[in-house]
Amino acid sequence: MDYGLKGQAAIVTGSTSGIGHAIAQALAEAGVDVVLNGLGDPVAIEATRSQLEQATGVRVRYHGADMTRGDEIADMVAFAQGELGRLDILVNNAGIQFVSPIDQFPTDKWDQIIAINLTSNFHAIRAALPIMKGQKHGRIINIASAHGLVASPFKGAYVAAKHGVLGLTKTVALEIAEAGITCNAICPGYVHTPLVDGQIKDTAKARGMSEEAVVRDVILAAQPSKQFISFDQLNGMVLYLASAAGGGVNGAHLSIDGGWTAG
Ligand code: NAD
Repeated sequence: MDYGLKGQAAIVTGSTSGIGHAIAQALAEAGVDVVLNGLGDPVAIEATRSQLEQATGVRVRYHGADMTRGDEIADMVAFAQGELGRLDILVNNAGIQFVSPIDQFPTDKWDQIIAINLTSNFHAIRAALPIMKGQKHGRIINIASAHGLVASPFKGAYVAAKHGVLGLTKTVALEIAEAGITCNAICPGYVHTPLVDGQIKDTAKARGMSEEAVVRDVILAAQPSKQFISFDQLNGMVLYLASAAGGGVNGAHLSIDGGWTAG
């Protein structure tokens, strides 16, 4: 399918793993030059980068900005413009999770989750908007969560950050509504990534359950479809929002959660 994105340029934060990696791959396959970002082994990251570049023929670059650092995020945006000549699509995806009752929640974990899951979106959007305004074209896609709409116990920092992402999304959307730019949030339910794998293992240990039972009775208990959301399903939503067809969608949160937040 041709999404009309050939020749555009994107940054996908947190794209060395999971959802971000899948989105970066889908954008590259659609003809978009991509800046990858995220933590990991430099050798493995370089292998991923060059593999994607060779497989798709687009330019693929990597910037190691730490999403807790506003200065590094601004540098990543400048790097993208310098390397790729433009910036059409910003996918704010990097995120982490930590599970604890609120009265025992480590304060440094709270600060880290708010920084990576929420404040990094602010820094990236702040740096990207002047470029997008100059081009009169831009698509900002924030990967929030079903937890941007509803809560679960013990995920206080994550739920607060993701609700914050929806507030930021709507505010930015109103500010840029006439500038040829859109800003939207995607709210996925559970996707089977390393982040969720960690939760499955931790929950199995904490509750003395098998990992299979945790998937069935805990993780997917909230997801009426009883199935993980696939990378292809998520990628389809990102490509739609990035395309001309998605140009009228602004300030929206799009749920992709197997019915979780319908209840
Ligand atoms: P993941 O752990 O597989 O990937 C997270 C990415 O973020 C990695 O590339 C990691 O290196 C990067 N990252 C973490 N801390 C960073 C930092 N300080 N600086 C730069 N990069 C950093 O996780 P995932 O499941 O793919 O999650 C991606 C996003 O999707 C997150 O925002 C998450 O909240 C959201 N989400 C995930 C699910 C799910 O079920 N997996 C559901 C809803 C929303």
